[in-house]
Amino acid sequence: MMMGWEEPEELFVPTGGTGPRAAGGSDIGSRRADNEDAQLCDAARGLFLIADGMGGHAAGEQASALAVQTLDTELSAVRLDAAIAAGADAARALVTEALLAADAAITRAGEHHPEWKDMGTTAVVACLAGDALYLAHVGDSRAYLLRDGEIRALTRDHTVAMTLVDDGDITLEEARTHPLRNRLSQVLGGHGALHPDFAHLPVRPGDRILLCTDGLYDMLTDEEIAEIVNFSASPDEAVYALIAAADDAGGRDNITVVAVFV
Ligand code: CA
Repeated sequence: MMMGWEEPEELFVPTGGTGPRAAGGSDIGSRRADNEDAQLCDAARGLFLIADGMGGHAAGEQASALAVQTLDTELSAVRLDAAIAAGADAARALVTEALLAADAAITRAGEHHPEWKDMGTTAVVACLAGDALYLAHVGDSRAYLLRDGEIRALTRDHTVAMTLVDDGDITLEEARTHPLRNRLSQVLGGHGALHPDFAHLPVRPGDRILLCTDGLYDMLTDEEIAEIVNFSASPDEAVYALIAAADDAGGRDNITVVAVFV
């Protein structure tokens, strides 16, 4: 696939009301036998999803696929348009209900298939409507915003280590190397209380939104991610280059990315 390092001026490409350009991709990486990630990239609806499943006996794949299917169904264009027209509170209620429905669907599937009983998945939901982004997540998959060349995380990982930071027990710096940094504090299908984070943010032309699983950000620094996205001429190119870079850096896990150029 084409690389476009020579075209940084694309950062400032004007958008003329044709909506976002978006692409999504997923790669097994270099070390894993299965790909347990899933994603959905529907630019027409403005709906973008990422899920990172976990659990033995191929259960992780079931969990992430079930999450994406359920969210896809629950967040139909008609429902999304109606909720967004009614305001941010209605959008939050709809997205939260959709995440709870995905949680219930995974729990039910685990009850019917005992070999899947411990499965779960992260999820990031991004809905882009005009100049507004509605974002919700559970787990440690992430959303980033790239604006004027700077990268900023829009999500805060739901890990036990981050809970310790919130409680004042450890510092953010200590959390980066803490033994519980990869232990999730909430997950879809995890039989625990769900408290999805929700955010409503303004976006503007030129912004680039990135959703990704930990297979990307564990392999690349935020600065490396920003450089690749900033110098990509299109979302397809960004997705391809990010996956290739994470693979080159070791590809220890499945790598899944959705890129949206506003
Ligand atoms: Ca992963």
